[in-house]
Amino acid sequence: MSVLGQKIRVEQRTSRARKSRASFHYHPEKVLFVTTPTQVSSKELFNLVKNNENRIHKLMQVAQADPQICYPLNYEDGCTILVLSEPVRVTVRTSNRIQPSYQNNRLTIKKPLDVSLKGVIFAWYKIHATAIFQERIVQMCEKANFVDAVPPWSHRFMSSLWGSCNRDRKVKLNSHLVKVPMEAIDLVIMHELCHFIHRNHSRAFYELLAEQLPNWKQTDNLLQNYGMLLCEEPPTERYRQSKRRVRYGA
Ligand SMILES: [Zn+2]
Repeated sequence: MSVLGQKIRVEQRTSRARKSRASFHYHPEKVLFVTTPTQVSSKELFNLVKNNENRIHKLMQVAQADPQICYPLNYEDGCTILVLSEPVRVTVRTSNRIQPSYQNNRLTIKKPLDVSLKGVIFAWYKIHATAIFQERIVQMCEKANFVDAVPPWSHRFMSSLWGSCNRDRKVKLNSHLVKVPMEAIDLVIMHELCHFIHRNHSRAFYELLAEQLPNWKQTDNLLQNYGMLLCEEPPTERYRQSKRRVRYGA
């Protein structure tokens, strides 16, 4: 369909995490993702897009200004992925076992022909994210004097939240954070740590956050530009298989 004179493809997603409003994300390859709490008809979808034309136009401008903030619509030899906000070129080689190697902003993936490239890349992302997040959590806990020990934490690919923490002070991070700037990872971690003291998003919560990270607002705006990365669905069956193979086979 056409938004303010530009032809784009519209894809609908549903997410139970969305309470009422629709959210919009724009992929620089001219795809608009519309996420709603429940399935909507194509007419409703059309109206949602029409009624939010100005908001969508802003997203399109952000994407045009920084087209690097995206993920490959097709994973193939020569595609570019993001690692800590830097574009990383992927080279694929055929081999009888899976072996990713990451050096000088290049990711070389050796894999059998029948193994999904996206699956191997996501498995690699998981491993890489674990190392980065572990280091950043330790750093942020040292910085936050109200935290006395590194809390239990985990990460997985999620479609609506960058992070969360429960009443038992267990921190859950979104694995997609491996693609955003380091300061934005720090912000998400610190945000969750501040919830140890204030459960809600009260004024006191933001005061505590600002004490820890004075530039948090700026970083938060930066992170919002990466919101479209959450639209990418992780691979399924193949992914689990290649995850196992990457972990133990490489
Ligand atoms: Zn929060």
